[in-house]
Amino acid sequence: MLRRTTLSGSNPTRMKSQNMRAVLMAFLRHGELSRARLAELTGLSSTTITNLVAEMAAAGLVTELASPQNGSRSVGRPRTPLRLRPEAGHAVGVHVSVGHIRIALTDLCGRIVADRALRHDLTTPAETVLAETARQIEALLAAHAAPPDSIVGVGVGASGLVNPQSGVNVLAPNLGWRNVAIRDLLEQRLGLPVVVDNNVRAMALAEARFGAGRDAEVMAFIYARIGVGAGIIVGQQLFRGSGAGAGEIGHITILPDGGEPCRCGNHGCLETLVSEPAILRLAAEVAAQAPDGLLAQHLRQATAEETRLAAVFAAARAGDAPTLAMLEERGHYTGIALANLVNVLNPNLILLGGLFSQAADLLLPAIETTLRARAFADLGEAVQLRTTSFGAQAGMIGAAALALDTLFYSAGRVPHSVQTPVLQATV
Ligand SMILES: [Zn+2]
Repeated sequence: MLRRTTLSGSNPTRMKSQNMRAVLMAFLRHGELSRARLAELTGLSSTTITNLVAEMAAAGLVTELASPQNGSRSVGRPRTPLRLRPEAGHAVGVHVSVGHIRIALTDLCGRIVADRALRHDLTTPAETVLAETARQIEALLAAHAAPPDSIVGVGVGASGLVNPQSGVNVLAPNLGWRNVAIRDLLEQRLGLPVVVDNNVRAMALAEARFGAGRDAEVMAFIYARIGVGAGIIVGQQLFRGSGAGAGEIGHITILPDGGEPCRCGNHGCLETLVSEPAILRLAAEVAAQAPDGLLAQHLRQATAEETRLAAVFAAARAGDAPTLAMLEERGHYTGIALANLVNVLNPNLILLGGLFSQAADLLLPAIETTLRARAFADLGEAVQLRTTSFGAQAGMIGAAALALDTLFYSAGRVPHSVQTPVLQATV
């Protein structure tokens, strides 16, 4: 959503919040900055910048680096570089996917300090799963001696339709969850603020704040595992749509007639053609046609369910022609969906995660060829196509980004949690 211009007037507190937010965002985007450069980038006066920087330094949030010309103390020199101290605060990111939960403790720049994973049976009630998640978060914080008042909050990226206002997972068919009050359940147990959103949207936000999307005006993050989803960033902000339903790219119709039925009630949707279940189903068909082929051999060796997808990719990398053709077709279908997305959004960057980054060598060439060929005019040429900056950690970093963005960067104030200086900054 584009940030609205303020129509309701401003009071000094709100103005200070907006100024602080502008300074924090400038640090995040540009790294080291002098006071003079901060003033240029934010349009704020040098006096305002000096005061804000002094407040942030007193809270241990920024540090002044030695001036290249003068190594001695340089009180308030406008060109002395400053930077954020990411270690001044932490966030917890919880990535909820089908049967797995991954939890990370990150610094203020979304870098993982420690993490842990838990599995859950899909028949276990959501409340029980979340209670165990809360226990694991407490154990993680205890193991790393993270003081509770250094934690900005907890972000949860959950599969399915999520209402970010209420923190409720409205419907996650692949998890079997319906109307699960994730935020309330975790806040009650942890006593920390909790922010909840869809997990792919969270990953898009992480790229926009900490990853490859920092300079992208319009960006889409596409993720495929059990389902396929997109997170959309416009003007550096998440675009959620009017009812938090934007980005359901998995349900774009690719085959209008005769496609497989989709769990959404439609048929021929992208995720019936490109997702882990779709690839495994097609791989089983390929293997049945050639029982002595490379794919059949690789699948026979993959005894555990979670290694079957890796076995399919391994057979393709070993040169199995039918598997390569099947995957190339998955890339082609994805490219059609992305060409449609490009025609509507005109993004300058598309990032791909999940199985697209796991098998980028096998899927990206076909995705790119179809996207560039099918998008309108030169829109397909103009868009950059890359895999996620965060690999398999995108979900956890994304979830932490939800908390950091809402409770720290966009809050526009030095939160209570980081007001105790951890290290004396040179001011
Ligand atoms: Zn569908």
